[in-house]
Amino acid sequence: MTFIKVAAILRDKTNHFLLQTETRDYQKATSQAKCLFQEYEQNRLNSLSFHLDQAELMLSYDLNEKCETEKRNVIQVYDLLKIVRDNISNIKENFKKATLNIEDLTEWYENLIGNCTGLLKLFDGLTLRKLKPRVLELTDAGPGVGKSNRDVRFRAAEKVLIQNLDFYSRIHRATGDCQNEVERTQSAVGKAISDGGSIHWEYKILDINSQEVKNMSLEDLELFEDDINKFNVSETCKDLARRVQNSPGPRGGFMVGLVSNTKDGMFFSDEASLKIYLDTAQTKRHMLPGYNYYKKISDFYDSHFEEGELYIEYVKFKCEEKNGIICEYCTNGWSASPINVVPKPYPDENYKYKSYEENANV
Ligand SMILES: [Zn+2]
Repeated sequence: MTFIKVAAILRDKTNHFLLQTETRDYQKATSQAKCLFQEYEQNRLNSLSFHLDQAELMLSYDLNEKCETEKRNVIQVYDLLKIVRDNISNIKENFKKATLNIEDLTEWYENLIGNCTGLLKLFDGLTLRKLKPRVLELTDAGPGVGKSNRDVRFRAAEKVLIQNLDFYSRIHRATGDCQNEVERTQSAVGKAISDGGSIHWEYKILDINSQEVKNMSLEDLELFEDDINKFNVSETCKDLARRVQNSPGPRGGFMVGLVSNTKDGMFFSDEASLKIYLDTAQTKRHMLPGYNYYKKISDFYDSHFEEGELYIEYVKFKCEEKNGIICEYCTNGWSASPINVVPKPYPDENYKYKSYEENANV
């Protein structure tokens, strides 16, 4: 992976971490055993650490073969990564101590926020790739992907805020719909992976006769077997991704085959605490870890997104129409030229709908 790609991933993760960091949330963390607020913070810090580690590993690859400018950029990022990691270790160490107090915690978090902001400024000076400001996501029937899924709504709002999008739409295509791009993509993927060849990889098996296995406790053996299964599944996925890579796509282009990260390395690492928040009655949510962050995202969703039967749609400055006031986020302005929501179908004569062009002027 190139330096530019690594830096772009790290920039997005740092943006996510800063968006997630709410003073009223982290100040509730204590050093008591099984403190849920501390666990929530540990999870966020671990997720950022994981991405920092990955970035550092990839940045150091072939350092001597890079050109002078790239080498200088890598070294600058490197130095700041080290400082950010020290900040994180310091907070995590102090979570274990009974002497932990709000004043110190606030100071450490402010240091961390300052250095993360410095990292973003460093990335601003580089020409990193950015997601286009208008995003369309299409989904097909299936569990967990529809727009009515609560996580989907949250993640959509988070993506808008992290990437500073102008427009976002997620449409759930019905099965058999002639416009169903998802079905067409699935057919193209199916065709790419069914090439007639069997899958070959260096698979692992459990050797029950080895001395190492014989000496294991039942618990260790189960973990060991689990690791072997994970390895074999991951290698199979890599083979399938290689078949998809550069195969013809549904629109005449070529597809990209990727294997997703392990659960520890997922970009959004707060699945469990988000679920608890959503499952809890509104009147009791203020007692939960991450309440202030989730409330912020939820309010943003309510004041910017529009929901239809099979879609959700976001456009910047929608807050002005819904609340009569422009929110802090929208004051950043448009990332590209201004855009409006897609006009809704409007009936015409003879049971037909007006064309898009006619509709836009209604
Ligand atoms: Zn707004």
